[in-house]
Amino acid sequence: MTTIQHKKYEAVIGLEVHAQLLTRTKAFTPVSSEYGALPNRNISPLCLGHPGTLPVLNEKLVEYIIKLGLATGCSVAEKSIFARKNYFYPDLPKGYQISQYETPICFEGELRIDLDQYSKTIGITRIHMEEDAGKSIHDQDPYHTLIDLNRAGTPLIEIVSEPDLRTPQEAYAYLTKIRQIVRYLEICDGNMEEGSLRCDANVSIRPRGQKEFGTRTELKNMNSFRNVEKAITFEIERQIDLVESGGTVVQQTLLWDPVKLVTRNMRSKEEAHDYRYFPEPDLPPVIVTQQMLDELRAELPELPTVRQQRFQDQMGLPEEAAQTITENRYLADYFEEICSYHNDPKAVSNLLLTEVLRVLNEKKTDIRDFPISAESLASLTAMKAEDKISSSAMQQIFNALIEEPDQPPLEMAKKLNLLQVSDQSFLEPIIREVLLANPDEVQRYKEGKKALIGFFIGEVMKRSRGKANPKQVKETITKELES
Ligand code: ADP
Ligand code: MG
Repeated sequence: MTTIQHKKYEAVIGLEVHAQLLTRTKAFTPVSSEYGALPNRNISPLCLGHPGTLPVLNEKLVEYIIKLGLATGCSVAEKSIFARKNYFYPDLPKGYQISQYETPICFEGELRIDLDQYSKTIGITRIHMEEDAGKSIHDQDPYHTLIDLNRAGTPLIEIVSEPDLRTPQEAYAYLTKIRQIVRYLEICDGNMEEGSLRCDANVSIRPRGQKEFGTRTELKNMNSFRNVEKAITFEIERQIDLVESGGTVVQQTLLWDPVKLVTRNMRSKEEAHDYRYFPEPDLPPVIVTQQMLDELRAELPELPTVRQQRFQDQMGLPEEAAQTITENRYLADYFEEICSYHNDPKAVSNLLLTEVLRVLNEKKTDIRDFPISAESLASLTAMKAEDKISSSAMQQIFNALIEEPDQPPLEMAKKLNLLQVSDQSFLEPIIREVLLANPDEVQRYKEGKKALIGFFIGEVMKRSRGKANPKQVKETITKELES
C-alpha cells in the first residue's frame, strides 16, 4: 500500500473492551471466581444452568462498574435492567448470557488519551455488566474438546467506545488508558495476556472528508496491546486495497492470526436480533441511589491525570517524570511515601526513575514486591543531600540494600566504608599526595589553567575511594593552590 492511498482514506475505529472484575465471587452466585483453579472446581448448579436455580446479583459488581463510570465521566442510570442474550455454545450451559442491553448502567462518558504530539478525548458510549462464559479447550485431547466452566458466570464489564479513534496508535493509547484506570480503581488486573482485559476492534475506512462511516469489520482474538495495534493496521490496509481494487467491504467478524499476521474470516456478523434479547425475568432492576453514588465517589482514588498534574504543579516534577511515576498507582504511592519522610521530590524521583525502575525491570517484579522500604530510601536520599555519601556511594548502598533490605542505610554505608569523611586531617594528606604526584598540572594551574581543578578533585576522590566530600575537597585544594 502506498502513502498516496493513506492520504485518500481515513480509518474509523471503535473498541469494545471487556474487563474481568476482581471480585472474590461470581456475578450471580457466591462461588469463587479466582483465576487458575483446577478445571471445573469453581462451579455451582447455577453455573451449570441447572433448572430451578436463581441468580443473585453480587453487589461488588455494581460498585466496581459505577466507580469506573464515575472515573470516566459517565452518567449512571438510576434504574437499569439485565437482559438475556441467547446463543448456543458448548461453554454456555444456560444457553444464554446475562448482560445488559437497552439500559446499560453507565453511559455517555469520555476518556482523554495522550499521544506524543497531541491529546484527544474519546467518547464512551456505554459501560455495562455481564457474565463470562466458560472455556472450550481444544488442544489437550486429540479427539475431544474439553470444557472448563470455572469462568462461567465470572463478572465482566464491557466498555464500548464511540467510533472516535482514527489510527491504530490512538487505539493503543486508549487501551493503555483503560488499563491504567481499571488498575488505579483496583477493579481489574488489566492483564491482556491472561485474558482479564480483552478487546474487540471495529474498523472501517472512508474517503477523507466524507461524513458517513463505511462498513465495518470486527476484529477478535488479539491478546496483547501490540497485537491490537498490528491487527488494526493490517485491517485498514486490507480494506483500502480491497476498495481501491474495486471491491466492497463486507460486514463480518475477523480473527487475528498472531503468527501469520493476517485477519481471517470467522463468521458473518450477527445482528442484535440473532440474540433474541429479552429482559432477564429472574433479576430485579438495579437501582442506584444518590447516596450510593456519593459514597462511591468518595472512595475513588486520585486519578492518574489529576495526580500527574499535582506532581508537576505542587511537587515541581518535570512532565515526563510525573507521567512515568503516575503510570502505576503503586509506584506513585511509593514515591509519595518516600517524600513524606524526606521531602525532596526531585531527588526522590531521580532515584526512582533510575535505580528503582532498573531493578524492577531486571527482576521483572511489581513495585509492591520491591524489597527496600520507603523509609530506607528516604534516609538514603537524605544522606546524599547532606553530603554524607557521594552519588556513586549512593548507588553502591542501594544495590547492597536490595540484597539486605533490613539493614538501615547508614549502617550499610558504614559497613561498606562509604561514609564521606569531612575531617580535614583525613583530607589533607591525600591532597598533599595528589599535588606532589602531579607537579606539571600544579604548574599549569598556577599559570592560569584553572580548569585543572576538576582533575585534582577527581584524583583526590579516587584516592579517598569516594569517601571525601567533593565540596570540601574543592575548597581545600583551591586554598592550597592559591596560597
Ligand atoms: P455490536 O454489538 O454490533 O458489536 P456495539 O454497539 O456493541 O455493536 O459496538 C459497536 C462498536 O463499533 C462501537 O465501539 C462503535 O464505536 C463501533 N463502530 C460503529 N460503527 C462503526 C464504523 N462504521 N466503523 C468503525 N467502528 C464503528
Ligand atoms: Mg459488540
